[in-house]
Amino acid sequence: MLDPQISPPSLAPFKEALPAPSHADGRTNLVGMSREELGDLFKTMGEPAFRAKQLWGWIYGKGARDFADMTDMSKKLRAKLEEGYAVRRPHVSRLQDSIDGTKKWLLRMPDGQEIETVHIPEDDRGALCVSSQVGCTLTCKFCHTGTQRLVRNLTPEEIVGQVMLCKDTFDEWPGPETNRKLTNIVMMGMGEPLFNYENVAKALRIIMDAEGIAISKRRITLSTSGVAPLIPRAGEELGVMLAISLHAVRDDLRDVLVPLNKKYPIAELLAACRKYPTLSNARRITFEYVMLKGVNDSEADARELVRLIAGLPAKVNLIPFNPWPGSPYETSTQGAIDRFSRIVMDAGFSSPVRTPRGRDILAACGQLKTESRRERPSRATE
Ligand code: SAH
Ligand code: SF4
Repeated sequence: MLDPQISPPSLAPFKEALPAPSHADGRTNLVGMSREELGDLFKTMGEPAFRAKQLWGWIYGKGARDFADMTDMSKKLRAKLEEGYAVRRPHVSRLQDSIDGTKKWLLRMPDGQEIETVHIPEDDRGALCVSSQVGCTLTCKFCHTGTQRLVRNLTPEEIVGQVMLCKDTFDEWPGPETNRKLTNIVMMGMGEPLFNYENVAKALRIIMDAEGIAISKRRITLSTSGVAPLIPRAGEELGVMLAISLHAVRDDLRDVLVPLNKKYPIAELLAACRKYPTLSNARRITFEYVMLKGVNDSEADARELVRLIAGLPAKVNLIPFNPWPGSPYETSTQGAIDRFSRIVMDAGFSSPVRTPRGRDILAACGQLKTESRRERPSRATE
């Protein structure tokens, strides 16, 4: 069985996974702790179990950051918490606004590594595109993140922190009943979420908890480039919506575009999808398909795609390729996208074309990349 924390050796050329960072003042961040962990914490402090529930409500329900605000706890207890613990957010290095309303945060972790998080507003909702790793060990040819050398898994605190920061920005603790700006989460930022499964799962459980941030599993989509063995497990344990980055319908081409295909080829990937629990017309798998001019956008490709996914409750999301500096591909023509989409729709699958958002600030799908790299010792000190 694949260890979800460790990417397969043949596909992880960079053995640079770093340990989780610790904070300068030595205090432990409570964000990212599970209910059980908070319970254990109070137990060791000799406090009753209901304190954990209280604290959970303050941190994840009300967005409190200061123990002083938690007035239903004694002053003594608050002082004790303050001594060893903190309720932190990631540090924002930069916040960029696109002309279309998309926001991109550049976040700096305590160890200096950086990630990006993107908020995409729609008229009546908004999705936060959350990162799961610094960089990505996979090197999909069309993806900017895949060109970043340094990779480490994000901790649950860093994953949940992205969501909390977004709620802070829009003042949604608990916020208005309607017209919320943060209604959906897509695990489609930097990194392969199923290569960091344990941390992603822990973070999503916190985000879904009904007495906290309470974003329902139906409004959370996990996108994977195809870590087949973990797909059914993610479905059983988390029950979130699934998106598969398919991008090619033949193994020879997918081997090039999505190198993970060499390990888990298309047939194995689709077999895993068929095992995803509780699929129905209301809970369909999204197949993501980036449209690359002259590479994967022919009518024959479209016909093969519908043959592959026949019988699956599925929809196909066509993503016009978003270019980045030095990218080796071009976006398909509108005509090719329309023809492709028509074939998929005629076969009974919904086939929306994803409107690129935030391209002007390099916030669109596949454009995320930070400068994170490991400091190398200079020659003089080697
Ligand atoms: N690693 C995960 C999730 C992050 S990528 C995955 O690959 O699924 C989110 C989506 O953006 C994926 O479908 C990915 O294939 C797509 N993508 C990557 N680079 C892109 C680009 N340059 N243009 C359009 N979509 C891209
Ligand atoms: Fe990684 Fe996904 Fe980009 Fe591939 S598309 S390099 S899996 S982030």
